[in-house]
Amino acid sequence: MQNYICVTCGVQYEGSNNAPEQCVICNEERQYVHSNGQSWITLETMIKENYQNIISLEEEGLHSLTTSPAFAIGQTAYLVQNDGFNLLWDCITYFDDMTISKIKELGGINAIALSHPHYYSTQVEWAEAFDVPIYIHEDDKEWVMRPSDKIIFWSGESLELHKGLVIHRLGGHFKGGAVLEWKHGNEKKGILLTGDIIQVVADNQWVSFMYSYPNLIPLPAAKVQEIANSVTKLTFDRIYNAFHRVVKENAKISVQKSAKRYVDALNGELFNT
Ligand SMILES: [Zn+2]
Ligand SMILES: [Zn+2]
Repeated sequence: MQNYICVTCGVQYEGSNNAPEQCVICNEERQYVHSNGQSWITLETMIKENYQNIISLEEEGLHSLTTSPAFAIGQTAYLVQNDGFNLLWDCITYFDDMTISKIKELGGINAIALSHPHYYSTQVEWAEAFDVPIYIHEDDKEWVMRPSDKIIFWSGESLELHKGLVIHRLGGHFKGGAVLEWKHGNEKKGILLTGDIIQVVADNQWVSFMYSYPNLIPLPAAKVQEIANSVTKLTFDRIYNAFHRVVKENAKISVQKSAKRYVDALNGELFNT
C-alpha cells in the first residue's frame, strides 16, 4: 500500500496498491491536469530526491514554510505562535525529519487548520507526526482524499481555536473556504492569513477573489461583496496570502476598495474597452 501524491496539486491520497486513475482535485475547473497527463509520486520518493523545507521568520510569532525546489502548486504554509499555542496554517506536501526537528525547536504544533482543499497536501502525515487535530470546514468534506480520525470538520461561520486565534468561513473560491484571524499578531493590530480565499495580487495594495485562479473564472459580484462585508468586523491591518505576498498595512481598506473595483469591473462600470 502506498499513499500516492498528485504531482500537479500535491495532494496525498489514502493508501492503495496502485496509483489512483485520476486526481479528483485536478479534474475540476479550479485546478487542471498537466498537459503531459496525470502523474504520481510518494513522500518516500520525494525524501530520496533533492527537496528541503525552508522555514523563515517573517515577523514576531510568524514563520513561513516553503519547499525548495518548488513542488506542485508551490504554496507557503505558516506557523503561528500565539501565546504558547502553535497553529500550522495551511500545509505543504514535502515533509521530513529535518522539518520535524526544526518545528520542534519552535515549540512544535498544537493544531493544523486549512484554508481550502488545494493545500490539504500531506496534512495527515503532519497531524500524525505531531499528534494534533486538523480543522477543515464541513462544507469541503468531499475534497478530503486521505480520510483520518485526526480531521475535525467544523461547522458554522467562525471557530476560535485559541484565545485571539479564530478561523472564519468566507467561502468563494471553495464553499468551505476559510481565513485565519490572528488578533495578537502585528503588535495587536492583527493579521489575516487568507490562503487563496482573499488573494494578494501583484500590486500589493490590492487583493482579488476568484473561483478558479489557473483558469481565471471570477466569483459572482454578490459573493465578493459578502466576503468584503464579512471581514469588516475582524481585527487585522495586514494580510498574508499563500504565496508570500503581503498587504503590509491598511489591509482592511485594501479589501474594501478591491471588492468595489471587482464589482464595478463585473458590472461594466470600471472601464470601456
Ligand atoms: Zn491533483
Ligand atoms: Zn486554491
